[in-house]
Amino acid sequence: MGDKFILEKPRKTPVTENVDVFVAGGGPSGVMAAIAAARLGCSVVLAESKAYFGGAATMGLPIQGYYNQDNQRIVAGLAEEFRQHLIKKNGASKEFIQCTMHNPFLIVDPEKVKLVCAEMLKQAGVRFLLHTQVVDTIVEDGVIQAVLLEGKSGREAVVAKQYIDCTGDADLAARSGVPFSIGSEKDGTTQASTLNFRMDSVDIQVLVRALFDNPKRYDLHHLLPREQFRGGGHHIMVGLGNLIEEAKSEGFMTDAWSFVNYITQLDENAVSINSVHVKNKNACDTRDLTFIEVEARNLVQEMAQFLKLYVPGFENSRLTFTAGWSGIRETRRVHGEKTITADDILAGNRPQDTIALGGYPIDIHSSNENGLVFQKVPTYGISYGCLVPLQCNNLLVAGRSISATHEAMASTRLMAQCMAMGEAAGTAAFICVENGCFTRDVDVSKLRSILDFHGACL
Ligand SMILES: Cc1cc2nc3c(=O)[nH]c(=O)nc-3n(C[C@H](O)[C@H](O)[C@H](O)COP(=O)(O)OP(=O)(O)OC[C@H]3O[C@@H](n4cnc5c(N)ncnc54)[C@H](O)[C@@H]3O)c2cc1C
Repeated sequence: MGDKFILEKPRKTPVTENVDVFVAGGGPSGVMAAIAAARLGCSVVLAESKAYFGGAATMGLPIQGYYNQDNQRIVAGLAEEFRQHLIKKNGASKEFIQCTMHNPFLIVDPEKVKLVCAEMLKQAGVRFLLHTQVVDTIVEDGVIQAVLLEGKSGREAVVAKQYIDCTGDADLAARSGVPFSIGSEKDGTTQASTLNFRMDSVDIQVLVRALFDNPKRYDLHHLLPREQFRGGGHHIMVGLGNLIEEAKSEGFMTDAWSFVNYITQLDENAVSINSVHVKNKNACDTRDLTFIEVEARNLVQEMAQFLKLYVPGFENSRLTFTAGWSGIRETRRVHGEKTITADDILAGNRPQDTIALGGYPIDIHSSNENGLVFQKVPTYGISYGCLVPLQCNNLLVAGRSISATHEAMASTRLMAQCMAMGEAAGTAAFICVENGCFTRDVDVSKLRSILDFHGACL
């Protein structure tokens, strides 16, 4: 930022909505938070900065976190309803796809995700705004009085009793003075970001054959058993590090991840690629974010070209889609009443105020190593306290930016788990509205019993 400032004119901002609950961000956590609060009778406004709902679920990624490593279901409730809606629209795999490395996962059609999110929000009676960004808040004595939004109509204010930050970046919390951290506690690095893209006309069976015919050349991540590919059904592939090294030694690739990571899509012969890494940038800095987007597009072209030239089955493939924006794995993590750590996760702790379960590996796309830290974990509980930020009495945070350490967030951030946290946050906001209490004073046994009644796994 420059060292010169201008003073803006004081302005009169219209209050356009006065509601029980305001939700910032319409990704997996925000959609579920808004629906949960609205179904319990709250008036709810949701503001989303992009042109559609679904957040990172619209990027061609599989939804993970519904299951633990022992094949036990750990997320249900609204996230299950969402899955059923997708299936009805042919927008998700009918069954979970088995995977010993990533736990069973769901393949979704990004376009159907956008539709189903909007439909479920409408049905629940949520009032929503697209192309509308949370830009500021007005806080008095630790209580948010209003949130300021910018959209095509200019600036407006929404007044609510309770606020839920599901922006993934904790934008609303940060603007309300909530303390936060970014990056690893050890060295400050954040996880790399990735622009996902889709390749069509891939002959996946050719690659699967090559994996068996020449396992030395076509290597897989050590946690991914080759047998899993037999039969050629849906899969996630992480591997081909040897080919990338070869391409690099031939001067082909300037930068890339050390593995190819793709997910087969619902359409035959299509894969979504989750491989290019832009490292060591702060995605909450406008200039860094601009760099990330431009750099990622170059890397996508490079990776698509690499796949066509080096990987069997990709010879005739075409790049047909890039996600609407770069996927950001890590930015702000708020400081909350409680903070979940890797030790909590590895010990399988299930605190008394557990409002959602996690069981996905600690999955760090590292910025300072050219690879992946991937550690299996038992089922663990996410505390309500991790959703309650410090210094702000009527705010909850759900999804990627809850109060967690760098390592713990690498497990809690998976989409099914974010949906479960969103449902819990929306339900807790309802309790606050009903009882006129601050978020930290919520009766957690009541919260848990409502979640349980609605089918959540606790
Ligand atoms: C590259 C990548 C690969 C991943 N792979 C997987 C995977 O395979 N499976 C899986 O389950 N998870 C995966 N994840 C993790 C998962 O996608 C995210 O952690 C999860 O989507 C977080 O959910 P969320 O609701 O917190 O945030 P998001 O999905 O990021 O949604 C946040 C929403 O808030 C909106 N928003 C942001 N700021 C504002 C603002 N100021 N005002 C209004 N709206 C705002 C955004 O536009 C967005 O729609 C991946 C993530 C990335 C980045």
